[in-house]
This record gives sequence, structure tokens and C-alpha cells, in this order.
Amino acid sequence: MKSIRKFTVRAVVPERLAALEKLAANLRWAWHEPTRRLFEHIDPEAWARSEHDPVTFLGEVEPARLEQLAADDEFVARAEREHAELDAYLTEPRWYQRLEEERPELVAYFSPEYGIAAALPQYSGGLGILAGDHLKAASDLGVPLVAVGLFYRTGYFSQSLSPDGWQQERYPALDPDGLPLSVLRRPDGSAVQISLALPDGGTLTARVWRAAVGRVTLLLLDTDVPANGDEWRGVTDRLYGGGSEHRLLQELLLGIGGVRALRAWAELAGAPEPEVFHMNEGHAGFLGLERISAAIGEGLTFPEALQLVRGGTVFTTHTPVPAGIDRFDRALVERYVTSELLPGVAPADALALGVEPGADPETSAFNMAVMGLRLAQHANGVSELHGRVSRRMFAALWPGFDPEEVPITSVTNGVHAPSWTDPALIALAERTLGTDDSEHADWQTPALGDAELWAVKREMRARLVEEARRRLVAGWEEQHPGGQAPEWMSRALDPDVLTVGFARRVPTYKRLTLMLQDPERFAAILTNPVRPVQFVIAGKAHPADDEGKRLIQRLVQFAARPELRERIVFLPDYDIGMAELLYPGCDVWLNTPLRPLEACGTSGMKAAMNAALNLSILDGWWAEYAADDFGWVIPSADSAGDEGERDEREAASLYELLEHRIVPAFYDRPDPAESAGFFERDADGVPGEWLRMLRATLARLVPELGADRMVREYVERLYRPAAERRRALVADGARGARELAAWSARVRDAWPEVRVLHVESGGLDQPAVGDELHVRAELALGGLDDADVAVELVSGRSRPDDSLAEPRTTRLARLGDGEYGGTVTLDRAGAFGYTVRVVPSNPLLAGPAELGLVALAEG
Ligand SMILES: *Cc1c(COP(=O)(O)O)cnc(C)c1O
Repeated sequence: MKSIRKFTVRAVVPERLAALEKLAANLRWAWHEPTRRLFEHIDPEAWARSEHDPVTFLGEVEPARLEQLAADDEFVARAEREHAELDAYLTEPRWYQRLEEERPELVAYFSPEYGIAAALPQYSGGLGILAGDHLKAASDLGVPLVAVGLFYRTGYFSQSLSPDGWQQERYPALDPDGLPLSVLRRPDGSAVQISLALPDGGTLTARVWRAAVGRVTLLLLDTDVPANGDEWRGVTDRLYGGGSEHRLLQELLLGIGGVRALRAWAELAGAPEPEVFHMNEGHAGFLGLERISAAIGEGLTFPEALQLVRGGTVFTTHTPVPAGIDRFDRALVERYVTSELLPGVAPADALALGVEPGADPETSAFNMAVMGLRLAQHANGVSELHGRVSRRMFAALWPGFDPEEVPITSVTNGVHAPSWTDPALIALAERTLGTDDSEHADWQTPALGDAELWAVKREMRARLVEEARRRLVAGWEEQHPGGQAPEWMSRALDPDVLTVGFARRVPTYKRLTLMLQDPERFAAILTNPVRPVQFVIAGKAHPADDEGKRLIQRLVQFAARPELRERIVFLPDYDIGMAELLYPGCDVWLNTPLRPLEACGTSGMKAAMNAALNLSILDGWWAEYAADDFGWVIPSADSAGDEGERDEREAASLYELLEHRIVPAFYDRPDPAESAGFFERDADGVPGEWLRMLRATLARLVPELGADRMVREYVERLYRPAAERRRALVADGARGARELAAWSARVRDAWPEVRVLHVESGGLDQPAVGDELHVRAELALGGLDDADVAVELVSGRSRPDDSLAEPRTTRLARLGDGEYGGTVTLDRAGAFGYTVRVVPSNPLLAGPAELGLVALAEG
């Protein structure tokens, strides 16, 4: 019989063990190993069954066991010690509190997904995991951050396979009462309700769940409340499900509802108003409109309010794939963005923010990334290469400027080491290196023997093998209820074989099946009788992506071949829990995206943290960190004629590297192509060169990959400037915002008349390195003042098409009415070129390109 309703009854924990409830209530346990060990000690089996979720776990432990522990002084003291440690963590000054510079009082972080712990599945992949890691690192560093998202009743989906390898999706409902969440309530006990006006007089209502992620508060909006009819209850049913309208409703709720939830929370918690708003991807872009609406309510005009909001907003773009950007039908957005929803905001002004550059404003799709960039004065991509690609991709928003000047910087993603480093490796560092900070330990010291590190690596690999077998059997039994799983499944994989991992979402650009390009060559690599290789693969395709599902099916069918099935396995339902097992268990982490479509990629970083070497196309983070000591580069065949040829050449490189470099290094035997010899490893069975690379990776690469480095960069390069800008704009009744809006309008009006009339340069017959070039320019300023503009000499190496490579900008000085002049030194030989331009200038602008206005000299 099936129940019609289900809820979790929270355990009554004995008074003396109250510390356990406190520990369970803060998600710090997700990355604090001693706390996890404390729970495990209570009942290891129930702990495993609960998938390491303390709230569910405490509900499942036998009351008698809890009574027994409550009488155990030693255990009670241990629990209290951990609780005291948590209290200290939550209150003591940390990195941020020791900064000397001015810094934001509070940062609000918005993301459509959060991957914090396996027990709270509110993510689909990298974007969510990154958001989770951002919160954890912000907490560790003491950055005052409050985060906002949605609570999806069924998360993303859970994946299984049909017997013929076709992805099946299931949507088991989560019970928030069994999760470390509490409803945001007023002191009188009533739940805070957020509402959004819908077209035709309807209302969308949401309650707000609150989670504690260390020092960070996370607010999640949930529409599954009785106040909503059936039609609206399901708005937050699942992540990235449903059609366009469903998605738009989610994003309106996240952006507009999110800001309203934040206000309600701040009032209850006595928190200050956030000075910086950070949008993790464009989905939360409507937050800017809600804040504009509020500023209009305080007496500003739309352009003034826009300036105010922009100054304190940071936008992070995560995808160079146009299909990865949310675009809505204009008419749909127009239906929802009414003045009931956003008081004071004229719908036409709101709609204009999403118009794609160059498109007809009446018919353009409403583009969330474009809106994000218009609403945020501070923007970034997520790796150096992705920054470059983004500057090109969005260059049309800043017409007249070279892509290099597009104001989108980059902060390379990082991953949260305490969450992602295997406890066995941390324990090894403790034992042999005398530190629990494995991320910054000296892994190259002789104090740690090769054999010891290698033994831990084997232990991690063996754990993966065992778990993979268990999952294979479980998957088979699910497909064949009542049957007995085939015997080979409990023999699949081998704890001593070179293990390659590949796991990620399955959009086409990630090329899940590149390894199958030449199936026979690949099969030969897997089944080499003396030096075999095994592959562990996982990944989910979006439920609507049949192409992705076909790729999975192809792979699953390949892996089912009787001669291969013990060497290559596909594990269904990739999630944080599996990831925690996969990275440590692999020797090599494979990544084969179509360059440059992988914005950053973080799984390879997590693998490196667990003593795995990377084997990857030079894309995303690997494009900036790849080195011989850290793994291998698969060269991108950028010059290939078409995608087919490109796949073929890149796959050939992949096989080549495996056969001739990776396999010989792992088994410590020379390449058979170069020598007929056959050598065993050293007497201790340790492959020396491999270990040297592992140590180099742990010692020199890993310290660069941490989310702490990433969050510090956000604070220093984006949050602090944004807060400073915001303060300048908001002070004195928003005088700065009013002036900047008026000034921008005046400059825009006058700009068509701004011109460089004439440029002359003096006196160089035979220019040589070291000579000075004197330039004078005559301008028409169309009624603007000298103070409104900067006149710049832009010079550098001239390319054959006359464009300037790595241009240098020198500001020209005013010599008289409309006359400017200055000098540059010719500091290198070769083709040299220059031009003169006029750009708007105001200390409240972030850079010369901000208004997208420029007047260039004509040749
Ligand atoms: C790290 C991680 C991802 C993201 O990996 P990419 O390399 O960025 O694609 C996705 N899912 C899970 C479960 C992860 O842990």
C-alpha cells in the first residue's frame, strides 16, 4: 500500500546529547570530517543508509542506542567538544575580519542551484557545485555573505538505465522536514510569505527555507504551499524542468522573490542591507529590476535607479555556449513584467534591458545574459580563456571597442578542498606531514615515502572498485526485479589497474563518446593483457536532450560487450555522493570538451586534489594550469576541416597518449614501441615517475585550485570595488546616482556630434626605437566639456590588417579649445600604428567602454 502523504518525524535526542542536534543543524558537517566521524560512530550502518545526512540519520538511530551514548561520559564530552569547535568557527574573526581595507558589510549571492551535500540535491552539475563551494569558502574566510535560491521539491532528477541503455528519469519528492532546513518565521511563529503579482490578478506565494552553511545563511524559496492553487504550487517542482513559461516563473521568483525574501530575513535577523549583489549566471537577473523598483519607490527615476543598482552588482557568466543562455519570447516576458509585479517600473524599460544588440527591439528575444550585463557594472567569466571568449561573445554590447576592452574580467573557478579531499589523504598528511591542511602541505618532502602515498592511492582505488561493483549489481537488480545479478559484476574492475575517470553532464560539447571514435583501438587499450586500463564513466543527460541520451546509450552498449565489461563501466546517477568516490579512485581524469566551450570545468581540479593526473583538451582551467608534471594535454585539432575530422584527430591523440605515455608511466615499463623489454616495477611496486607527478600535483597545482583562492579574488577584485562604487552612488540621497544618470544622458545626446577632426604627428623621418612620437589632435566636442571626455592615443604593433595588437593607451592633454596633444616612446622595432579616440570620462564609470560610446579618428 502506498501512503498518500509522507513526512519525517524528528528524533527526540536525549538532553545530554543536545550538541548532536546543533551539529546536525548546520551544514558545516558536510566538510568537517571530525563531525562526520562523530555521527558515524553512533551507528555506522544507519549512517551509511542515511547517505551521510545527520538529520535523517538521527531519526533512524535506535532510541536505546542514543540513551546508551547519553550515559557515556566520554562520548558526551566528545560531542560537546565538536559543538564548541563549531561555535568558535561561527564566531571567531577569520581572514575577512583581518582585512585592513574597506569592505562590504554584506554580499548577497544568487544562484539557481546549490550543490552543498549529497543530502540536499538542489543542483544539476558544475554551476551548482561551484555555488556550494563558493558558500563554504566564504564561510571559512569569514566573508559576510547571504545566499538565495529556490527549493526544488524533486531536485534535478535521479537517473537509472533501461536494459537497453536508455536513460530513465525519476523524480522522488524530497521531504524538507528530513533535511537541515527550517522555515523562516517571525517571532510570533508565523511563516514569512513572499508574494509576486501575476497577470490577471493572480498571486504567486512562496515560503522561505533557511539553511546554515557554516557562517553563511542560505534562503530557498518554495511555492509548494496551500496559498497557491495547483497551478502555482509546482513552480519550484524541479530544476530545469518544464517549458519556457515555467522557467520564466522560476526566474521571476528567484530574482524578485529572492530580493523580497532577503529583505524579510534581514529585518528578522537585524542584518544590514547588502551592498553587493552577485548573480551566479543570468537566471537571477530579475533581482536588478526588483531593486530598481524599490529605488524608484524612494524617489529615483528609472535611469537613476539603474545606475544605483549597477554600481553594486556583479554578474558572472558561465557559458560560452549560446544554447546555455536563457532566452525568452519577448511577448511572454511582457505578459509577466507588469507594473503590479514591479511597481514604478515601466514595462518598456524592463523589456529594453533584455534586447539583444543589433536585434529589432520589438521582436528580439529577451536574453537573460544580456540583461545581466546591463544590470551589473562588474562582470566576469570563470577562467582566463573563458574571459577572453566572453569578451568576444558579448562585444556587440560595447560597439566601437576591441574585444580586449570589453569590461568582462575573469576569476578562475576553484573547488572547496575540505569538501573534496578524500579523508584518507587528509589522514596521510596528518600522519606523515604533520598537518591537516592537505591543500597546502609539502607533499614533496622525503618525510613522506612513495610507498606510503601509493598505498593510500590504492586504498582509494579499491574503495571505488568495490562501490562500482555494488552499484552495478544494484542497477541490474533494479532492471530485473527478483533476479540474480550476473556473477561477472562482482568481478568487474580491478584495484590494481590504471583507472581513468570521466564524469560530467552530457551536453554534446563535452563529447562523452570521443573515446569510442576508434572502438577497436580503444578496446585494445582496455584489454591489454599485461598493462590493462579501466574506465569508470558517469553522467546525466538533460531529460529533454535525446541526443545526450543517445550518447549514453552508445557508451553503455559498448561497455556491455562481454570482452570489455569488466574494464569499462557506466555508473548511473552521478551526484555528489558518487563524485566523492570517483575522484579519489581514479588515477587519470579525462576531459574531452570541444575547445573553447568548457568555460572552466572543475571536476579535473577535484581529481587533482585526490592525487589524480589530468588528461585533457587545453580548455577551461586546464588551459591556464596544464604542465608536464600535472598530466597530459590532448592537442586541440583547431585546424581540422570539420567536426568529424577534429574528433578523429583529437581521439587519435588521446589513444596515442594512453598507449605511449600514460600506460608505460603507470606500469613503470618502457614503451614497447621503443623497447622489446618487459620490466617489473621497482621491488616496492611503486612507479617512480608517476609518484613524482602525483607529488608535484599535490604540492604545486592543488594550492592554486582552492575555492578559498577564488573567493578571495572575488572579494578583492569584484566585491570591494562594487561596494565602493555603490557607496559613492548612494550617499547623500543617491546624489551620485542622480548625477551619473543625468551626465550619461547628456553625454549620449551630445555624442553624435563628438568627432576627431584632424590628427597630426611630428618630426620622425626614420623612426627608430627610443624616438618619441608627438601627436596633436583637433576635436569637436558637440557641447560637452573637456572634463566629460578623455582623449586617448592608442598605439601598438600594427597587424597586416591595420588592427593594433596589444594596444597601449596614452591620455592626451588639453592644449587649448578642442586641441589635445601628447607623446609616446617607440619602444620596439617593427610595424607600428596608432590612432586617436575620444571616450566618455567620469570617475563613477568602471572603464572607458562602459557606455559603449567612442569617437575614432578617421584615416
Ligand atoms: C564537479 C562536479 C561537476 C562539474 O564537473 P565539470 O568538470 O565542471 O563538468 C558536476 N557534477 C558533480 C557531481 C560534480 O561533483
